[in-house]
Amino acid sequence: MGIPFRQQASIALYLMKQKLKGNKRYPLVLMLEPLFRCNLACAGCGKIDYPEPILNQRLSVEECLEAVDECDAPVVSIPGGEPLIHKDIVEIVNGITARKKFVYLCTNALLMEKKLKQFKPSPYFSWSVHLDGLKDHHDKAVSQKGVFDRAISAIKAAKEAGFRVSVNATIFDGHGAEDVADYLDYLIELGVEGATISPGYAYERAPDQEHFLMRSRTKQLFRDIFKRGEGKKWPLSHSSLYLDFLAGNQQYQCTPWGNPTRNIFGWQRPCYLLNEGYAKSFKELMDETEWEQYGTGNYEKCADCMAHCGYEATAVEDAFKNPLKALWVSMRGPKVTGEMAPEIDLSNQRPAEFVFEKVVEEASETLPEAPVKKKREAAAAAGR
Ligand code: SF4
Repeated sequence: MGIPFRQQASIALYLMKQKLKGNKRYPLVLMLEPLFRCNLACAGCGKIDYPEPILNQRLSVEECLEAVDECDAPVVSIPGGEPLIHKDIVEIVNGITARKKFVYLCTNALLMEKKLKQFKPSPYFSWSVHLDGLKDHHDKAVSQKGVFDRAISAIKAAKEAGFRVSVNATIFDGHGAEDVADYLDYLIELGVEGATISPGYAYERAPDQEHFLMRSRTKQLFRDIFKRGEGKKWPLSHSSLYLDFLAGNQQYQCTPWGNPTRNIFGWQRPCYLLNEGYAKSFKELMDETEWEQYGTGNYEKCADCMAHCGYEATAVEDAFKNPLKALWVSMRGPKVTGEMAPEIDLSNQRPAEFVFEKVVEEASETLPEAPVKKKREAAAAAGR
């Protein structure tokens, strides 16, 4: 359960190669966002609040595959937006699996059953269905009734057809430990192969700003969740040390280059969660991003972040350096009592810069159809 052996072996080999080459920074999971358009509007999402002309943009098949080759991460996660809306998504997935990269196609599952026959089961392909909790909780999180039932039906149909299916959940404040534990118990019953669980990042553009977890509350919540999981085989796909970090037992800094993001604007700086500029190429992203400007203790917007796309790569790196520690935690599970690891000092963090509008406007100018520019020109022509 969790991560299949073939994938674990491939990642271990990749890590060894990076070490032998002496690479200090390397990607583990490419976050490939071929579009921002979605058929849901979840309250905690910071990805879909773009003007209409931007929501209409798509990365082409060629651009997607170029990004996969450029970055060369062993795993490619395809979030969005809703990737099943992209008309060429099957071709994109097939192109990536043909390169023997492990693809996670993240979907809210509304279109999944309808499109299931267009995909083929493969050890390199997994559905990753967005499922934030049990029925009432999930439907509330996605702001639409009936989505949970459709997702469960799609998961069952996909399993029946021989696909690997994982689920992913984002946890917000107010989601009780008991509820999350019940949800994880239900995943055993459902028979999904893997599950990721991550505290939500406080996107400045998300409609609901009140329910993001602060760091201390996150750690206590995850301790309370893990207490209820002792002796159970929850299908969590995280490294043991990331779970230990969530429970407050590891002091980690993030590894934002571990999950680089390519979307319609280019390579997003510095990470999947934070949108502070774009690089034209993966090399430019790696070489020219001022990485030391980001991370907890360095930047106000990073103060409460504990999301897996920032910290899983840190935990994997730690496990590589300290295999016995990782094995010990994996055998006994995360520590749920006693003192927590000391928190990172926030007193010297630089203040948040609110650059979203400027970044999007500048990045839009580089798009083939430059939607923001066109809109501005049209407004000027109309004398507005
Ligand atoms: S802490 Fe790291 S991963 Fe989280 S938002 Fe900041 S740069 Fe991104």
